[in-house]
Amino acid sequence: MTWSDLLRDAQTRLLGGMPAETAANMRQEARQLLSWISEKSIAWLQAHGDEEAGADIASAFLHAADRRAGREPMAYITGHAGFYGHDFEVGPATLIPRPDTELLVEKVSLFLDGMSDEMCAHDAVSKSNDLSLPFSPRPCRVLDVGTGSGCIPISLVLEHPLLQAVSIDISPDALRIAKRNADRLGVADRIDFRLADVLVEDSPGEWPLYDVIVSNPPYIPSADIPALMPEVACHEPKAALDGGPDGLLFYRRLLLLSCRLLRPGGLLAVEIGYDQGDAVPALFRKAGFVPQLFRDVGGQPRVVLGIRPD
Ligand code: GLN
Repeated sequence: MTWSDLLRDAQTRLLGGMPAETAANMRQEARQLLSWISEKSIAWLQAHGDEEAGADIASAFLHAADRRAGREPMAYITGHAGFYGHDFEVGPATLIPRPDTELLVEKVSLFLDGMSDEMCAHDAVSKSNDLSLPFSPRPCRVLDVGTGSGCIPISLVLEHPLLQAVSIDISPDALRIAKRNADRLGVADRIDFRLADVLVEDSPGEWPLYDVIVSNPPYIPSADIPALMPEVACHEPKAALDGGPDGLLFYRRLLLLSCRLLRPGGLLAVEIGYDQGDAVPALFRKAGFVPQLFRDVGGQPRVVLGIRPD
């Protein structure tokens, strides 16, 4: 079979399994899959469409196309997903990083920038007072709850040289992937990945107080999960999606933990579902945090921030 024949065959398989409105995406996904399996660029494949493809590549590609036609997400087939400019290994034990979650990283990152500005100002004051001890900024500390692939803490520590993180997850398989990602991206020494269930664990990590608690927790109401697209409902880990009967279980818990584990003036930052723009800020207010709501590029409520009061 030629490269073009392979693409045509795969597109037919994909279009058979997918809703009609996704046809254009499927053509693109078929090209991406073939490019990933053959290790050739899409441009190369287009230029050499009439040449014969090897039998091994052909069979591996058509197998991958069948998996995709069975609504397995591309990222699980290739084992990779891009997030915040970095490449992350993903697998069925981890949620696939979403562009929406980049907004959460961006907001936490801005808060951390503000913290380091404050420390620099402190440094300048120390120097001008000619204190004998030089001011050495202490590392900022972040607790990340439900780390999955590790995309949130890894992106944060890559941006903030003085940042250290404790990351917890209930899944040993997810933690293995997160550690490999941290290793590959050169930040393994600054993130302590721990197996812990946030619903029962009272003091994850060794630090008494954190500057930031961040989480993209499970937030889909349990009964809504079967109606999600099959890529999510049938393939992504239920433990990373299921937010209990009203979808708010983890926010209540995170607020409780934040009252104990966050320093006064520290930040609780969470991702929320598109329809939780009232309920989650209300929980923040009830716990004494003044919430700030941010919308994603699609205009949906997506991130809530709150500073722990003194
Ligand atoms: N954003 C994910 C989705 O829409 C859900 C992630 C989560 O529950 N944290 O499927």
